[in-house]
Amino acid sequence: MALPVLIVGAGLGGICLAQALKKNNIPFKLFEQDVKSTFRAQGYRLRITKNGVDALKEALTPELFTLFEKTCADTPSFGVRIKPDGTHLPSPAGFGPPPGAQSKSYTVDRTTFREALLSGLEEHVFFGKSLEQYTIHPDKVTISFADGTTEDGSLLVGADGVRSQVRKQYLPSFQGLDTGMRIIFGKTPSTPEFLAKLEEEYRHGMSLVLDPEDASQPRVLFESINFPYAEEVTEPQLPDPYMYWVLCTQSSQLPISREKSWHTGPQESADLSRKLTNSWSPSLRAIFDMQDTSQSAIRSILSAMPEIAPWEPSSRVTLLGDAIHVMPPTGAMGANTALRDAADLARRIALAGGVDGIDQAVIGDYEASLRDFAKTAIELSWQGGMKSFGLKPVDQCERIKL
Ligand SMILES: Cc1cc2nc3c(=O)[nH]c(=O)nc-3n(C[C@H](O)[C@H](O)[C@H](O)COP(=O)(O)OP(=O)(O)OC[C@H]3O[C@@H](n4cnc5c(N)ncnc54)[C@H](O)[C@@H]3O)c2cc1C
Repeated sequence: MALPVLIVGAGLGGICLAQALKKNNIPFKLFEQDVKSTFRAQGYRLRITKNGVDALKEALTPELFTLFEKTCADTPSFGVRIKPDGTHLPSPAGFGPPPGAQSKSYTVDRTTFREALLSGLEEHVFFGKSLEQYTIHPDKVTISFADGTTEDGSLLVGADGVRSQVRKQYLPSFQGLDTGMRIIFGKTPSTPEFLAKLEEEYRHGMSLVLDPEDASQPRVLFESINFPYAEEVTEPQLPDPYMYWVLCTQSSQLPISREKSWHTGPQESADLSRKLTNSWSPSLRAIFDMQDTSQSAIRSILSAMPEIAPWEPSSRVTLLGDAIHVMPPTGAMGANTALRDAADLARRIALAGGVDGIDQAVIGDYEASLRDFAKTAIELSWQGGMKSFGLKPVDQCERIKL
């Protein structure tokens, strides 16, 4: 019997690959280290643009694509640009939707999107399975989990995010960048009490707070998230309306090391966001004061090098998404690129005739296309980041082993 494709990491890319393999009747198993899909504060909003939409159309059944559409929030137009004290700033050319958003784009809540994408995969997904290492044999790959169990497969796909265990073993000297940018993101429920404190114009569109004269001030993007099909869709249940916000600052302004940023809890993240904005106008402060503290999280913004160096492909192991090309979220390209990888890999496996047709050339071609696409996506992320969020140029970022 054909051994399954083993996907490690049930994030957006891993789940999309699972759906695409299922659609093509290719056997697979999906493993996730978290004990359930809603573990940890995972919920920021994502913009799914052309490449992501095309990938979802290819990977999902028409019914599932319709469910995806109905679980989306409204995609707002542009809001206002303001200083921390509430003074208005003119909107410069180029302040607008992210690259790739010219065609129809969708706005999703990451937790809800993930829940919708998991529909129909119940028998194939295994939670609480943390991959520790893999072993390649002539005819298969064996993966070992922290709980002492193992699984055999035809191909291992590391879809396990920026700190990928699969990549650490597959490409041990892989280098990336610490951009020096740190973000805190969160949600503030759109309760009547909160809305009463919020300037009317802050309720619409994607707005940006920045102080052009004081680089030490964080920049904040915020946007109201509303689900037009909230009453119609029951599975997954759609969230109540909220304000999504992401605060960007430099590591020099935030007393949290790169390593610690992964382990900082929601309460501490929420407290830091309030501390960094405590001199701001009362209306803007309300966003942080009235946030849902359980939803706040900190991230160090890391990136792959824009030019990812090629490697000798394996017929038994490959990578997708942030595991190989993490990029700053400032271009809204990371998830879109992960979805593109997933659809592309599944298509190539299907064209090769299924798992028995996977060889070094199939994986090599997939990885070459991945590097090519990621280069453009990383460059676009940098353009957006330097223009609106104070991202340093690539050559000023610290090189690190990812
Ligand atoms: C605030 C913010 C806003 C963003 N906005 C956008 C946007 O608008 N548009 C966009 O395209 N992108 C956006 N991004 C980027 C996007 O979220 C990521 O690029 C995307 O989630 C990557 O998907 P992935 O599947 O590769 O990895 P992930 O979603 O990180 O999934 C990896 C999964 O692997 C699991 N895992 C890790 N290690 C193991 C292990 N050893 N064993 C088993 N499982 C493991 C993890 O628990 C996780 O579930 C944003 C990011 C942030 C932080």
